[in-house]
Amino acid sequence: MAYILPEGMRYSTLFERHAFYKDELQLSKLSKWMAPRKAEDTVFACIIGRNTGIYPRKHARIASDTVLFKDLVNYGELQNNLLEYLPEGAYYDRNLYVDRLKCAGCKDLSRCFRCKNFLGQELAFDLDPENVDCPIHGTLADKMKQRQGLGFCEYEFSIVREKTVELYDLLSKKFSDMRIVYSGRGFHVHVLDKEAYSMKYSERKRFANQIKGKDYPIDAWVSSGNMRLIRLPYSLHGMVSRICLPLKPGAVERFDPVKNKQAVPKFFTSSLP
Ligand SMILES: [Zn+2]
Repeated sequence: MAYILPEGMRYSTLFERHAFYKDELQLSKLSKWMAPRKAEDTVFACIIGRNTGIYPRKHARIASDTVLFKDLVNYGELQNNLLEYLPEGAYYDRNLYVDRLKCAGCKDLSRCFRCKNFLGQELAFDLDPENVDCPIHGTLADKMKQRQGLGFCEYEFSIVREKTVELYDLLSKKFSDMRIVYSGRGFHVHVLDKEAYSMKYSERKRFANQIKGKDYPIDAWVSSGNMRLIRLPYSLHGMVSRICLPLKPGAVERFDPVKNKQAVPKFFTSSLP
């Protein structure tokens, strides 16, 4: 089942994923963006082919799994792993650990907050276009019924872009160190303030619900800490063939994911007729 996507977006092939991770992954920008967090303190993850059904045959058995990398010591190693698995999506774990090797990879992630190995979690907000009610495609429930839960259109994207700017301004009243990232489908707002890392699970939930109540189509799963993984900046979103791209807050309003040169992989532009 293919998802409806804005014009100019499509699944990347395995060949393209390989070309991207070999030639286009900007490791120095990635490490700068991640700082002060280091590769050697971070759990990374990938999903090889869960949503696209595209995966290297040798990894068929784990194609739908979330594959965790707990022992990478630098970004070069991360790149090697991405070249090995050629995933549709790459992620990092927002948790900070005493010892990341001891992360049990719990599914019930509210448990992380009770774990002795847990130091804190980066706060993040996920704004996805499927959460926007659309005059053509309907509500999220309608889209799920049509099996289009991950599909989206230009209208939904434009609303989510507007909401991202508003949310950033709203969060600015409470936090000072925030970053906006174009995720490939929507946007992520990362909060790096120290106080945000130490927010308890219940506080996050309450905070996320407050913001949702203000009419933001945010994903409470990410904001309440119940989903540790967030898309890795500068990685390839293999479902839409776009680069997960950090944006200056002032650039979000005019950001066009169909045409933006930094967000469109080179393999994609060179394949156009
Ligand atoms: Zn729509």
